[in-house]
Amino acid sequence: MPTRGGLGPSGSGVSPGGAVSPLASIAVVGGSGFYEFLEGAEEVKIDTPFGAPSDPIAVGEVAGRRVAFLPRHGRDHRFPPHKIPYRANMWALRSLGVRRVLAPTAVGSLTPLYGPGTLVIPDQLVDRTRTRPQTYYDEGACHVPFADPYCPSVRPVAIAMAREQGWVPASSGTLVVIEGPRFSTRAESRWFAAQGWTLVGMTGHPEAVLARELALCYAPLALVTDLDVGLEEGEGVTQAEVFQVFAANIKRMRDLVARIIAALPEDREDDLCAHALDGITLPFDLP
Ligand SMILES: [Zn+2]
Repeated sequence: MPTRGGLGPSGSGVSPGGAVSPLASIAVVGGSGFYEFLEGAEEVKIDTPFGAPSDPIAVGEVAGRRVAFLPRHGRDHRFPPHKIPYRANMWALRSLGVRRVLAPTAVGSLTPLYGPGTLVIPDQLVDRTRTRPQTYYDEGACHVPFADPYCPSVRPVAIAMAREQGWVPASSGTLVVIEGPRFSTRAESRWFAAQGWTLVGMTGHPEAVLARELALCYAPLALVTDLDVGLEEGEGVTQAEVFQVFAANIKRMRDLVARIIAALPEDREDDLCAHALDGITLPFDLP
């Protein structure tokens, strides 16, 4: 297994002059169902100023593009949502050359309009997390714009590819990210729904803002696995139900991710995220 610490790589990706060529330009951060999706994958161990990422990163090809895959919870699912090393994960991806991150994720629905199996490409986020370090900017006055938290260039590609694949995606929605690991109470869930918020999950933040702070494009692909507890009349959501719905849709989700990867433009010249840090003096050099 090649190892890579900070910017001192070994194995592929190093030119004779010592310059580092990108090992991957696009990343998928998601569940372990994505391992088999990379062709010719090799694993890269990498360290960051924020510690090690959730797992070694698998790097290979999808649709002729160099793609990195990082299992957000670790391959053995050892990190609960509030313990995921989010800062190390985004830093590690950027240092491999990644500039766009696709985040397939399981979510609860806060509206009966979007039942289990619905694909949503959210456009807004509400942060209800409490304990997670959510910035790289621990010095200086750096305030990254986050009005539109998800990449405005990747989202339309994701929506178009989902439609081409026969999915009927919801092309907007507000994802509220709770601290977890418990699910919501009925009262919390009804309150979220009353605000007009659409989806509830546990991992979408601070991943999205950390990506923005590193000028990475980031777009979630949210698969509804259940109606959240304020909406349904049974015993409340169980983990088994969530896993079951995600497992039933994993192949379809992989196909969608591959289509999106193939359709993404190579350059990011006009991209909002690529220019998110223009005019900001960072307290560190970008990896
Ligand atoms: Zn972008």
